[in-house]
Amino acid sequence: MERKQENLLEISDLTVRYNTDDAVVHAVNNFNLKLTRGEARGLVGETGAGKTTLALSILRLLPERVGQVAGGSIVYDGQELLKLPEAEMLPLRGKRISMIFQDPMTSLNPTQTVGDQILEVLNLHFPEMTRDEKIKRMEEMMTLVGIPPQRKNSFPHEFSGGMKQRIVIAMALVAEPELLLADEPTTALDVTIQAQILELMKQLREKFNTSVMLITHDLGVVAQFCDSVSVVYAGRVVEYGSVETVFQRRENHPYTAGLFNCIPNLEDDQPRLRPIPGHMADPRVEYPGCCFADRCEYATEQCRTEAPTMHVCGGHGILCHRYAQKEEF
Ligand code: SF4
Repeated sequence: MERKQENLLEISDLTVRYNTDDAVVHAVNNFNLKLTRGEARGLVGETGAGKTTLALSILRLLPERVGQVAGGSIVYDGQELLKLPEAEMLPLRGKRISMIFQDPMTSLNPTQTVGDQILEVLNLHFPEMTRDEKIKRMEEMMTLVGIPPQRKNSFPHEFSGGMKQRIVIAMALVAEPELLLADEPTTALDVTIQAQILELMKQLREKFNTSVMLITHDLGVVAQFCDSVSVVYAGRVVEYGSVETVFQRRENHPYTAGLFNCIPNLEDDQPRLRPIPGHMADPRVEYPGCCFADRCEYATEQCRTEAPTMHVCGGHGILCHRYAQKEEF
């Protein structure tokens, strides 16, 4: 498929905090990311790394009063989203930018039929369509995601977990958004259904040329679905690049290398997996140096006192002092 290489989304130095009664939580820190039209980028990292906060920031759905964008910018198709009046955000959400959440049960309204829930998206964003056109479009979308349209009058509880997630995908894609934010869309599903849902998302992505930001903790899902990957630790991108480059495992950020070491490898006769020691950095603490230093086997004094910068080689970026002197990696 011919793909225009212009950026659809450009996030620069985004910083997001949660101001709670007890502390300030530094959820996203100087976050940078670019997404071209039609690209699928995986955001991978442990739970609590700030990935969901990032997606909510794009949609401007951070919890009121508590969540605060403290700096940076989010430019979507040439428009600064952080400065857009709320009235102009409304047509963006669900129409041009859509989101799939992890648990389909909490995304669907248990008191409404699935057909009505898909229709609601069309009612909101396409007032110019006639009722018959909307029903036809809803039925086509149900067919596309593999649910017989005859089941449009069923309620969510009448479907299995995998089917519910298909309906959520139908709702997310019925308006043919340019950008889909998929937050752990397959985590709540068993592994065979996960494969089906990923395949379905892949087909729909190609059909509609949708850009996707796939949030996951699973490197296998990234390998299966994405073109590029950003590895996120403590609200920062610590490594990014094409899936081929990062998964080649020639050079990786120590955190990415740790994530790979947690995956069973049939060619490796190691009796045990090697988990990353220690715990995720405390988001309430502002680290003067590298936030991974307490868990890193290569940490030096410099790592504890001086924040690393992103070193880039041919589209592959690594946020680590060890790469300061390397010209190629
Ligand atoms: Fe490890 Fe230092 Fe690199 Fe951080 S900057 S990942 S502590 S080597």
